[in-house]
Amino acid sequence: MEPVLASAIFALGLAFGSFLNVCIYRLPRDLSVVRPRSACPRCGNPIRAHHNIPIFSWLILRGRCPNCKTSISPRYLFVELLCGAIFLACYAHFGAGFATLKYCAFGFLLLGLIFTDAETHLLPDKMTLPGLVLGLVFSLVVPVNDLASQLLPGLVSLPVSSDVSWHLLSFIDAVLGAIVGASFIYGAGAIYLRARGVEGMGFGDVKLMAMVGAFLGAKLTIFTLFSASLAGSLFGLSTVLAVWIKRTRRRITRFHEPAREARRRAWESAAIALRRHQMPFGVFLGSMALVALFYGNRFMQWYWGLL
Ligand SMILES: [Zn+2]
Repeated sequence: MEPVLASAIFALGLAFGSFLNVCIYRLPRDLSVVRPRSACPRCGNPIRAHHNIPIFSWLILRGRCPNCKTSISPRYLFVELLCGAIFLACYAHFGAGFATLKYCAFGFLLLGLIFTDAETHLLPDKMTLPGLVLGLVFSLVVPVNDLASQLLPGLVSLPVSSDVSWHLLSFIDAVLGAIVGASFIYGAGAIYLRARGVEGMGFGDVKLMAMVGAFLGAKLTIFTLFSASLAGSLFGLSTVLAVWIKRTRRRITRFHEPAREARRRAWESAAIALRRHQMPFGVFLGSMALVALFYGNRFMQWYWGLL
């Protein structure tokens, strides 16, 4: 890593993270991300230029609006830092070239979608659809995982040496990834709706996975789907357990219910709470797509080795 270039890329990531904060707030509210200038959502006090420097401004203002002292969410700080870290990680992982550009764009979009979904339960089309197009275009410049050699190691050798077939294979892999990602979520959503009568996954998740597929190709998209389902299930399960334990304790200590009765009733209410609580699945899909970007191939090789 070239230290000067690395610092520049990190600083660029911070600046993009700062812009991403604006997108996270405004896109779900159908506001323009360009105009007007940033202002405090409470008192309307415009954010002055010297208060608009990533990281430092939040620290100098100690997370408060300089005018009305309303606290500014630490999310602004996190998103800036994470965006800087992702840009730097892309450079460290992919070197100076088009691949870094591609995956910085991908990481930028994912980060925005993760935080927007967490805060508003929405995955704006204004991020996912341009992201899908961008992923397909980038597949012609930066090779998506070589489909044939990855899926069937050693079994087939397609003429990947010539330039034309390289671009074509990469593009096909991106299209296939988008189809696999979107149709899996669409299918899972339809099954969920049938089984439980509530919408578990929206079209936002379908479009998110189409975008992820276009960037990562079919293989890493499958990795993303399975690891996100696993992470989501574990999270749901541990939430239910935590709520169950907490409510059991409360029933015993405060309402003096017998332990067995308290456990049973607390379990019922925890299960209802889970059913009512809509889990933002996009958070898990987006996070695991980031993991897939950096570690997916290594994990697949290790897993392949076990079989
Ligand atoms: Zn204010």
